[in-house]
Amino acid sequence: MEANDLLTLGLGLTAPWRVVDQSLDLSKQPSELRLEVEAARGERYPCPACGALCKAHDFAEFSWRHLNFFQHHCLIKARVPRVRCPEHGLKRVNVPWARPGSGFTLLFEQAVMLLAREMPVNAVARYVGVTDKRIWRVVTHYVLKGMGKLDLSRLCGIGLDETATKRGHHYVTIFVDMDRESRPVVFATPGKGKECLKTFAAYLKGRQGNPENVVEVVCDMSPAFLSAAEATFRNAAVTVDWFHVVQIFTKALDEVRRLEAREVILPKAARWAVLKGLETWRIEEQVAALKELEERGLATATAFRVKELLRWVRKADTRQGARWRATRFFEFARELAGDSVLLAPVRKALNTFEDHLPRILRRWDSLLSNARLEGLNGLFQAARSRARGYRNVTTFITMIYLIGAPITQLLEA
Ligand SMILES: [Zn+2]
Repeated sequence: MEANDLLTLGLGLTAPWRVVDQSLDLSKQPSELRLEVEAARGERYPCPACGALCKAHDFAEFSWRHLNFFQHHCLIKARVPRVRCPEHGLKRVNVPWARPGSGFTLLFEQAVMLLAREMPVNAVARYVGVTDKRIWRVVTHYVLKGMGKLDLSRLCGIGLDETATKRGHHYVTIFVDMDRESRPVVFATPGKGKECLKTFAAYLKGRQGNPENVVEVVCDMSPAFLSAAEATFRNAAVTVDWFHVVQIFTKALDEVRRLEAREVILPKAARWAVLKGLETWRIEEQVAALKELEERGLATATAFRVKELLRWVRKADTRQGARWRATRFFEFARELAGDSVLLAPVRKALNTFEDHLPRILRRWDSLLSNARLEGLNGLFQAARSRARGYRNVTTFITMIYLIGAPITQLLEA
């Protein structure tokens, strides 16, 4: 077997295409292996629009970056014909090793996609030696293609959450399929609030889905969101995720701590001691800080106790049990908070919790795991780090899809 035939085989080329020449350019850095691909004279080529075999009209030379050949960059060059189809006129023929318009071979793009799932796009760009702009173009193409194939006809339980792309300047709302074990993201859209729900409902209809089929919506406690969710998904029970309950009490606790820090000097480790829960403490300083807060009878310590008590409510086995515990929790927490000015944020959180109690208690009946929404935080962080340096909304959403959406077979034809 000749070297050219071997390379033809290695590239997966099929007739009429074959490698006819090869050269190694060592003057370049990194050095470049160039493979010349050609079809035999007089061959007929399929029209890209209808597949009819036609004669070549004229040729033009193109090149594609291919997978590295050991340490050498590899470039494929070919003269690609235009055919004159009786029906479609002059058309450039598609080559089997690349998609139309791309300067990369399919195998090269496949490698790029595998890398992009694991590392930031600018790192991929550096690694393969092409500009990050071109890498983004490849990533966006395959992600959108994969998302285009999504079939949402069976979607009946959704969860949604919002996140900021960059210091709160832009928001993105993410929708997950609550029945999916892994890669649950089915949609992400710029913005937050009720408009996003309408956008999602329209998207759902475009993906064989039906808003009427949605029987459960899990979201946070913003009143605009809740009423819009009930209006958009008329057959759905709207559940508030426990994660968001914890979130409002954590926020309240942090507000109390900040208010109090204006009046008295708090121990240095107080911030982390109160923001992290008892179960996640590792550092002795934090334990000591909390003990000091308690001993000095500070408001921050009270807010912390209220937040920790939430766990007791959550651990109830049944909805009834949870309701009973919630009632005790409200009584006890309100007594602790009293009418202290510093503890106003805690009283506000208690009121919000109580207002939404029926929706929150639904989680005890729901069969869907609320862990999905909690897991999203990790996903957002991963997406942010992969899109490092390109934190606009579009690139962020592309990364969320690449990492979290059910598009595993990105590169099938
Ligand atoms: Zn044609």
